[in-house]
Amino acid sequence: MANLELTDPLYWALFAGVVLFMVIRFRKKQPVGPTRGKAISIKGQQLRAHLGPNCPLACLFEDGKLFGPDYHDKTPPPLPHGPGCECSLQPNYRRADEIFQNKNSLNKPVHTEMGDLSPSELRYYKYLLIARHPDASKEQKEEYQELASRVEVDAAGRARIETLIQQGTT
Ligand SMILES: [Zn+2]
Repeated sequence: MANLELTDPLYWALFAGVVLFMVIRFRKKQPVGPTRGKAISIKGQQLRAHLGPNCPLACLFEDGKLFGPDYHDKTPPPLPHGPGCECSLQPNYRRADEIFQNKNSLNKPVHTEMGDLSPSELRYYKYLLIARHPDASKEQKEEYQELASRVEVDAAGRARIETLIQQGTT
């Protein structure tokens, strides 16, 4: 190999090549980490029933369901479900990192006519509506009463929801 002097253009060309190589390598190695998942998202639609004592049973059962190419249920049902149905479909996006952490927009308080209800309060409310629904079978009533009893809602929340149900039926 020829002697390379610091003044030799070939020396500088090699040096520049090595530097360039290292820069590219370093860049490639940079972990994209937390922002990476944000680019990937699951797009779908979420069915929201108009919760209340007059909400049809079919709507109560489908409330909160997600539809989309990445979900088990690809296409939402034709709406309305039937008489009294006030269901709507809302766009729902979930980022991959949210899915990974098992949290999503469902965990945010939901604004309803009766004020903001936490997701567990809303679940408790829905379970009770099913448990007391005139069209629900005996088994369904028992099942959902049991489910409601397992939802973590404090005494104040339970009382508030009880009032809502009482008000709605009169
Ligand atoms: Zn409906």
